[in-house]
Amino acid sequence: MGKIIEAKCNCGFEQEIFVDRGKVPMALCIYCKNSFRIEAEQAIEKKVIPCPDCGKDVATSICFAPALCEKCKKIIILNYAQMPVICPDCGGNAIFYNESSLQKPNKAAGPAISWGMDIEGDFKLPQAEYKCPSCGQMSLQFKHEGFWD
Ligand SMILES: [Zn+2]
Ligand SMILES: [Zn+2]
Ligand SMILES: [Zn+2]
Repeated sequence: MGKIIEAKCNCGFEQEIFVDRGKVPMALCIYCKNSFRIEAEQAIEKKVIPCPDCGKDVATSICFAPALCEKCKKIIILNYAQMPVICPDCGGNAIFYNESSLQKPNKAAGPAISWGMDIEGDFKLPQAEYKCPSCGQMSLQFKHEGFWD
């Protein structure tokens, strides 16, 4: 089951993001943005399989997580299992929000949120404020809102 997280900043920026993974095993190609169903055996046996559309390597583990693209000024959702970390819109480098360079620890911020690829807690958003894609300040907060299938 996936988590729904609300990202919110004082500047007015707001975005609902869908992380973790759904029930259906899907792979997502970062190159052609194609998503396709994968068989459970493929996911266990192989770390990457070729995209049926473009032939590039796609990770079979799924762990959707938020990343920042500073060029596009937005939060994008990428598969944490898939390297390299590239923005599908501009092709530039993106940074996952679990990187400390995007965090300012704050005890007054909401509780930590974590989820995982193979084990719960692989990807962690600690109790902190984060770099806002819109205003660039360390004043963005993530809050767990609910679940998706
Ligand atoms: Zn592809
Ligand atoms: Zn971008
Ligand atoms: Zn902001």
